[in-house]
Amino acid sequence: MCILTDLCHHYANLYPKKFVDIAHPLSVLTVLVGTAFFFKLQMFVITPFVFNDLLCKVLWIVGAFIVYNILGNQLACYCLDTSVDSLPQDRRTPSAEEEHLWHYCEICQRLMPPRSWHCNLCKCCILKRDHHCVFTATCIGHNNHRYFFWFTFYLTLGTGLSILTTIIYIVKKGYLFDPFPLYRIIFNVEHSKTSDGYSFCEYLIFLLNICACVLPAIMLAFQKRIVYFNTTYYKMCTRTYDLGFTKNCKFIMGERGLWTFISPTLKSPLPHDGTHWETNSSPPSVPVNVK
Ligand SMILES: [Zn+2]
Ligand SMILES: [Zn+2]
Repeated sequence: MCILTDLCHHYANLYPKKFVDIAHPLSVLTVLVGTAFFFKLQMFVITPFVFNDLLCKVLWIVGAFIVYNILGNQLACYCLDTSVDSLPQDRRTPSAEEEHLWHYCEICQRLMPPRSWHCNLCKCCILKRDHHCVFTATCIGHNNHRYFFWFTFYLTLGTGLSILTTIIYIVKKGYLFDPFPLYRIIFNVEHSKTSDGYSFCEYLIFLLNICACVLPAIMLAFQKRIVYFNTTYYKMCTRTYDLGFTKNCKFIMGERGLWTFISPTLKSPLPHDGTHWETNSSPPSVPVNVK
C-alpha cells in the first residue's frame, strides 16, 4: 500500500496534469459506481432475504441516509473552494501584526497565511492544507475538511454494514463453509452449478467489498486523530495547534461540531477564515470572522 501511494505521489509530481486527468475521473467514478453497486446489492438481494419487512424498510431509510451523506459530502468537498484565493481580497495580504507569521510561496510568489501550503495538482496554495484527495477531485483544507471527515465516516459505515449483513446472509443460506457464496448471492446460481470457473468474479467482489471498507477506515482513523489534535495529514505529529478537543473539533466541524454528521447541508460556520491560527503557546487573541 505504501509503495502504491509513493508511486502515485512520484507520478503526480512528475506529470501533475496527466495525473489529475486520469486519477480524478477514475476515482470519483469508483466511489459513485461502488456506492450504487453495494446499495443495490444490499437493498434488493441481501436485506430482503435476511430481515423481515419492517426491518427492511428501516434499512432502506438507513441505506438512503448513508448514500446521501457519502455523495453529499463528496460533492461539498469538490464544490467548496479552500484555496487562499477564496479569501476576500483584503484578507489575502497580512496585516502588519500578522506579517511575521505568514510565509512566502516561491510558486505563487506572495505571502501565504500560516498552515497553508502549495498543491502542485491544484496549482495554488490551500488554506490549512490537509492533503489532495483524488476521490473528491480536490484538495482538503480549511473550508472543506468537515465534509471530507464525514465522507470517509459514511463510506466506512456503509461498507462496514454491508459486510455485516452479507455475513448474516451467508450464515442463513448455509454458505458459511462454502468457498463461493458471494457469486451465488449476486448471480443467484445454485450450489450444484458452481465450479472453479466462477472463483475469479467471486473473489474480486469479496476483495472490492473489503477494500471499499478498509481504505476509508484507514483514512478515517487518520482523520479522527487529525480532528482530535487539530493537526493535518502530513504533519500528524505536530501538536502546535492543539487547543483541546472541543476547540479543535470546532476548527474543523464549525460551530455545530459533531452534529454536522446529520447532513452536509447543515450550516456550521467555522470560527475563522483560515488565516489566523492560535498556537498552544501563544496568548489567546480575537479571531477574524468568516464573511
Ligand atoms: Zn503557492
Ligand atoms: Zn490539491
